[in-house]
Amino acid sequence: MNTTLPSRRRTHQVEIEHITVGSGSPVVVQSMTNTDTADAEATALQVKELSEAGSEMVRITVNNPQAAAKVAEIRSRLDDMGCPTPLIGDFHFNGERLLAEFPECGKALAKYRINPGNVGKGTKGDEKFAFLIRTAAENGKAVRIGVNWGSLDQSLAKRLMDANRSRPEPQPPEAVMKEVLVLSALESAQKAVDLGLPENKIILSCKVSAVQDLIQVYRDLGSRCAYPLHLGLTEAGMGSKGIVASTAALSVLLQEGIGDTIRISLTPEPGSSRTQEVIVAQEILQTMGLRSFTPMVTACPGCGRTTSTVFQELARDIQLHLRMQMPVWKHKYPGVESLNVAVMGCVVNGPGESKLADIGISLPGTGETPVAPVYVDGERKVTLKGDKMAAEFLQIVETYVAENYGEGGKKRLSQAAKIIPIRQA
Ligand code: SF4
Repeated sequence: MNTTLPSRRRTHQVEIEHITVGSGSPVVVQSMTNTDTADAEATALQVKELSEAGSEMVRITVNNPQAAAKVAEIRSRLDDMGCPTPLIGDFHFNGERLLAEFPECGKALAKYRINPGNVGKGTKGDEKFAFLIRTAAENGKAVRIGVNWGSLDQSLAKRLMDANRSRPEPQPPEAVMKEVLVLSALESAQKAVDLGLPENKIILSCKVSAVQDLIQVYRDLGSRCAYPLHLGLTEAGMGSKGIVASTAALSVLLQEGIGDTIRISLTPEPGSSRTQEVIVAQEILQTMGLRSFTPMVTACPGCGRTTSTVFQELARDIQLHLRMQMPVWKHKYPGVESLNVAVMGCVVNGPGESKLADIGISLPGTGETPVAPVYVDGERKVTLKGDKMAAEFLQIVETYVAENYGEGGKKRLSQAAKIIPIRQA
């Protein structure tokens, strides 16, 4: 099927070490640690874990002297582990003090996240903001000016609310507050430029926790500047609620070409891995056809025709197997991330979907002959049966990958590069 991809909003290109954020580059996936940054070993290990899951930049909190003192060590631990993922420092309230006291911290970070609502008020706040920006400029670092609904710039809010009250027809307070969010980001960016930070070192975000608000705010922000935008629904929540809310909001914006880097702010279930937010971010981009990260498994939901769990287990095992191979495969088999595997539960849609995939298996439904035809590039190649069906199917996938994405393979790299057009206007 020939799919037309949405065109991207045109932005500056911001270099963050080896990663480029902006409309000329793929939408970048990022995540954030939840370890105590003062624990350099635990933080470095979690950054590595997030990076291996596919996070292209990782944010760490830099909230006190103990944390700031360890940032350079975290960087060097990562370098020693062969993990070049850029680190972003999340500063609130005391960033200027920490950067002044621990200059190595500012050098080790690739980007600083500054929240204008938490820098401080009046002249003091302006001085602190200026110090943060000048330090970034001196160190050649990028900055994300990250405005957040929960920590709005109160003086700007008061200014706009007062101006609104004196209008003949005042706007509803929610509309004014959205304008506060957007204006806080734009005015802070202008201040940063006036202080000497180049425009191509600035990324903006305006995070809120309600889907419709986020869409409105980013549409507005995107139409008023050419800075790359970091998208994310703040405090998205836990489990399916967090995933669905983030997906709903980000999909609309990405479909309109808005958004150059994304983070899914999921609250992890107790004991579950932090990497889930990375997987969700990748899956949003991949299912929208904007990027490819891991071979996709198309699986039917199952119904009364599938009374056994065989096909559910096979779909799960294949997805898991493919994801686990990716750290090696992405180097060994360029383009394999575009592989499409179908695992179907019965003869109703099984052969059809299987033929559309690169490799597909149509398992027997209840009452069907207990055999599973396997389709490769649209052609029925072999029919599996018996207890070893799953292992044999995985072997077919492995062979297909090696033959098609290995040296000289006809699919090597061919499907990987997707050029997303940039809007002209
Ligand atoms: S392919 Fe078969 S098993 Fe799967 S949902 Fe459709 S009818 Fe049910």
